[in-house]
Amino acid sequence: MTAAASDEPAPSAPTEPLYVASRASEPDIADFASESVIIFDVEGAIQYWNPASEALYGWPAITMIGRGIAHLTTRSENEREHWRLLLQEGTWQGVVSRRMPSGIHVVVDIRQYVRFAQDGTPRDVIEYGRQSPGDNSIDSAGWHIPDRLMAAGWEVDVSGAEGLIAEIAQLRQDADADEKLLHARHVELVEAARIVNVNERTMRLVGGNRGRDLMIGQPVAGFWPLESRMVAGQLFADAMLGKVDGAAYRRQMPSDGILRDPLVTVWRAEKPGRLYVAVNGTVDDDRSYIYLRASEARYRKLVHHMPVALWQVDASHMGRIYNDVRATGVTDFDAYLDEHPELVDLAATTVQVTDVNRAAVQMLGGSGPLDLMRPVGYLFTIARDSLRNVMIGRFKGQESHHEVTKIETFDGRVRDVRMSVTYPKQVAELDVTIFSFEDVTEHMSIEAELRQLQADFTHAARISTLGELTTSIAHEVNQPLAAIVTNAETSLRWLSRADLNIQKLRELTTRIAASGRRASDIVQRIRGMAAKRQPERVAIDLNDVAQESLLFVRHEIESRSIRITTDFARDLPRAVGDRIQLQQVIVNLLVNGVQAVEERGEGERQLFLRTGDESGQLILTLRDTGSGIPPDDVERIFQGFFTTKENGMGIGLAICQSIVAEHGGSISACNHPDGGAEFRFAIPIGPA
Ligand code: ADP
Repeated sequence: MTAAASDEPAPSAPTEPLYVASRASEPDIADFASESVIIFDVEGAIQYWNPASEALYGWPAITMIGRGIAHLTTRSENEREHWRLLLQEGTWQGVVSRRMPSGIHVVVDIRQYVRFAQDGTPRDVIEYGRQSPGDNSIDSAGWHIPDRLMAAGWEVDVSGAEGLIAEIAQLRQDADADEKLLHARHVELVEAARIVNVNERTMRLVGGNRGRDLMIGQPVAGFWPLESRMVAGQLFADAMLGKVDGAAYRRQMPSDGILRDPLVTVWRAEKPGRLYVAVNGTVDDDRSYIYLRASEARYRKLVHHMPVALWQVDASHMGRIYNDVRATGVTDFDAYLDEHPELVDLAATTVQVTDVNRAAVQMLGGSGPLDLMRPVGYLFTIARDSLRNVMIGRFKGQESHHEVTKIETFDGRVRDVRMSVTYPKQVAELDVTIFSFEDVTEHMSIEAELRQLQADFTHAARISTLGELTTSIAHEVNQPLAAIVTNAETSLRWLSRADLNIQKLRELTTRIAASGRRASDIVQRIRGMAAKRQPERVAIDLNDVAQESLLFVRHEIESRSIRITTDFARDLPRAVGDRIQLQQVIVNLLVNGVQAVEERGEGERQLFLRTGDESGQLILTLRDTGSGIPPDDVERIFQGFFTTKENGMGIGLAICQSIVAEHGGSISACNHPDGGAEFRFAIPIGPA
């Protein structure tokens, strides 16, 4: 009737868990992994056990945390020697035979990596494992090992059922005892047992939509299938009444339709009155579970094959340092790092890469993932500042950080990359930060070429505008030159007079100098317009720029008897931009305005130029009294090469638009109700 105590040493009391897999509502990345991920401390005690480990080995995490590696293996002698070598050498990869609670052995391909502390001592060991493809072990009963055994784990409390357990003990000893009564008592024991904790699997199998919190404290019976309550009760009593401390009691239980061939194992937990329960079996029709596994596999595959290079890093050490720094009242981490640049070096050597995908290996030109499983310093050999920025982001508690930076590949090539860092949400558990690097080198060079092309084009357009303005420019330069000649001639006349009038001569010479300066200013201005140069970003006074632009077209306007009315707002805030480029925009608009008025030929000949500011933007409007823009063309005039003029090129407005856009602004055109066209551009008021 009762199950025999198992002959194998059953798990002993686990210590207080350090990490508990599948506990938090926000699971860790490793909780999603399709591979078994186990973290051991240097002693070989299990710190973390992911759901895939539960499925592979059939041991629930709640029963594994704190146990030694010996619980997984049969040859503890060899294991000790292996562990010693592993800690020395840092990594190991191979095939091992592991034991499941059912007594079944499973052959697993494992990879073990030692993570080292900053001082070079081993910190812990991460082990990745999956069932060996060549594993066709047959267990003792002759069954083929199922692909995967389910492990639903429970921790239950039967401390409130002491009387009941004593009665069961009595009944079991009594040869004449009523079988039915004993059955009833066993079932009652399941009703009296309270849930202390359950794992993810248990929740999914029997918890319905209730969360773990709603299960804890409830009677086990409320979640245990009716058909097998008696079996469970027997095992609970066996474990509580068993003489051998730590013995495991195991029975097949009737299938409940969810699990095929379910096997229940029960053993006493460390706390008096507590039991651990593991239910193993294959799942036929737990849809959600199967779907989840499938999506995990897809997710894993997706991540692995993603064209974006991904790094998973463990920055827990730095996380603790940030907490300490924060505790001392530091808020400006940027300044703090200026004083403590050694912290950046520390991050470079202690933040450990724990996983990478294929694209990462490819990007850096490594021969395999292991080449990349090192402290992150190698990612920041050129752009140390980027690492600093990543640290600042983490310190500030940002969710993520993005920047374009450069990395050096293993063969010394430099790549432009867009880096995105996703910080851990829950720092308490595995401190997993994800780095993604996207190679944008190509993209950047195309962008640079485009920028160059655009700059060349803008420059060409300026030259072309200047070409159109040659008459005006000649006139502009000519004026001061003529004044110089006149004043020089006058001085000569004064010099030839007998009574030297020093005062008069001084006045004339001053005028000559002023005119010379004016001519030089004009040439300077034209040279500014004509020069090929990199755009700059300086504080701009829009009124000044507009005034200067007027100087280029003053002659055009005056010689055509056009009147210009200006209305410049006073005390305008500054914008940030390129003076010459903005001049180019205004000159273009003015030239178009003059041409529009000229083309119309009749009526008022006026231009109205106005500046102002409005909701964070500087505004410039220019209205003319030309014929306006035909409604059909309004949409098209800013397109390149759209022109209605015989000798037009149709690039002026297109360039105006791109310049204004580069300044973060916008430009538009409409017809004024009183006739003529009105152009308006707005650029944001810059930082002071
Ligand atoms: P272009 O002056 O060489 O034609 P633009 O890009 O400067 O090139 O102008 C494109 C077109 O926009 C002009 O051909 C004209 O049809 C229209 N346009 C520009 N400014 C005005 C204006 N002030 N009034 C009416 N139409 C205008």
